[in-house]
Amino acid sequence: DTVIVLFSRDLRVHDHPALAAACERARHVIPLFVADPAIPSGNRGGFLVECLADLRGSLRERGGELVVRHGDSVAETMRLAEETRAQAVYAGLDVSTFARRRQRRLAEECERLRMDFLVFPGLTVVPPDALRPTGGGDHYRVFTPYLRAWVRQPRREVLKAPGAVHVPGGLRAGKLPEPGREPYELFRGGETVGRRRMEQWLRHCVDDYAEGHDDMAGNRTSRLSPYLRFGCVSPLELEALARDVGDAGAARDVGEIEEEGEGRRGADEFVRQLCWRDFFYQVTRAFPRINRDDYRPRGHEWRDDDHAAQAWKEGMTGVPIVDAGMRQLLTEGWMHNRARLIVGSFLVRRLGVDWRVGADHFFDLLLDGDVANNYGNWQWVAGTGNDTRPNRLVNHIRQAKRYDPDGEYVRRHVPELDAVPTRRIHEPWRLPSGVPGYPAPLVPMG
Ligand code: FAD
Repeated sequence: DTVIVLFSRDLRVHDHPALAAACERARHVIPLFVADPAIPSGNRGGFLVECLADLRGSLRERGGELVVRHGDSVAETMRLAEETRAQAVYAGLDVSTFARRRQRRLAEECERLRMDFLVFPGLTVVPPDALRPTGGGDHYRVFTPYLRAWVRQPRREVLKAPGAVHVPGGLRAGKLPEPGREPYELFRGGETVGRRRMEQWLRHCVDDYAEGHDDMAGNRTSRLSPYLRFGCVSPLELEALARDVGDAGAARDVGEIEEEGEGRRGADEFVRQLCWRDFFYQVTRAFPRINRDDYRPRGHEWRDDDHAAQAWKEGMTGVPIVDAGMRQLLTEGWMHNRARLIVGSFLVRRLGVDWRVGADHFFDLLLDGDVANNYGNWQWVAGTGNDTRPNRLVNHIRQAKRYDPDGEYVRRHVPELDAVPTRRIHEPWRLPSGVPGYPAPLVPMG
């Protein structure tokens, strides 16, 4: 028999539960990707095409093929199913509104044609619907209790890549989509690059992560987020390997991962970040409108200020640490996490602009932009989500001095400030004559 494996944001052959199950069950397997115009890939287009080319290469090495179709993903999948008389469609679980609607439609169509439709895990370390708070409710609203349950949850087995993939004869492979934009220099797409990055990170860098991850100039985080976004790297495999790093070992006391503070091991801190990722997926599963609904405090109005929002987007607010972050986003398609926190809170708290203006801009530009993590983090920064602390305040200048003490991050991304002495690099407005070509701050900075 024949099974169609519908790929979307799981562009890998290793630890791919749907692909592994299809290869085990069926004589013929059709790996399918549908380029659906309803999902504009925007800035991520170049990266996506590289991921697809790499996946196609890996499948061909195994005697298979990546079949690519263009159009509505449900209609194209069902058309192929009828053409090939497939018995089943397998897909990966996803939680966004769009993905769920597609899943529902696929389920209905498969039922109509008396085909199986099965959904597999793989998007997260722990499936988004696996953990329920003991005190009631269908999901965790606060991170720490979620983390506590998450570390104790048994994991499924990490799966090997299938040895061979047998596609039926006579299938047209189909052209890869157009990239839309050139890939970014720092991030080349695909499982091959992603796995290499994962292995190097775990071998050489993760030990330093607890001390280094907030060093904005230091490039001391994994930069694996775009690979996780497109599923080039399996989060479950990444977590398993991180837990095995050094003397960590799987049998370690879970308390060490839960506790925050000095001396925590790099791999533990890193695993904790992967839990944040899972956390926002389980919130999004429960609140699919995470990218729109705004639970701002009663009486609070956002300021309608296009001029301020535009200056923020262009990295021209006159606040160096904010501008550096925003320009890193424009040039790299990625931004350091500390910078995301600073620029986000600056937009919302200092400029008073609606967090959704910032979140939509991030979503358009970030290579790792995805609904759950982008909008979940924005809600967290703005204090508008279902988290319980609406007044999380950030002192932008103190943060800048702490996490970019020499101003290296600022100088790299805001070259106009290159000659400013380190003492004033984060507060150029204190210089008697300002800096030619660089704006005064949009809001008084004290
Ligand atoms: P590392 O520090 O190496 O962490 C490893 C992995 O853990 C990351 O790749 C990521 O998958 C996960 N992770 C780390 N921090 C977080 C976090 N706070 N929330 C969720 N997952 C996390 N991350 C996205 O993947 N997509 C987004 O669209 C996104 N938007 C964000 C918007 C704002 C306003 C903020 C404050 C954070 C956002 N993040 C987002 C989270 C975080 O900034 C990035 O995941 C991280 O900077 C990616 O770099 P890295 O891979 O080097 O991370």
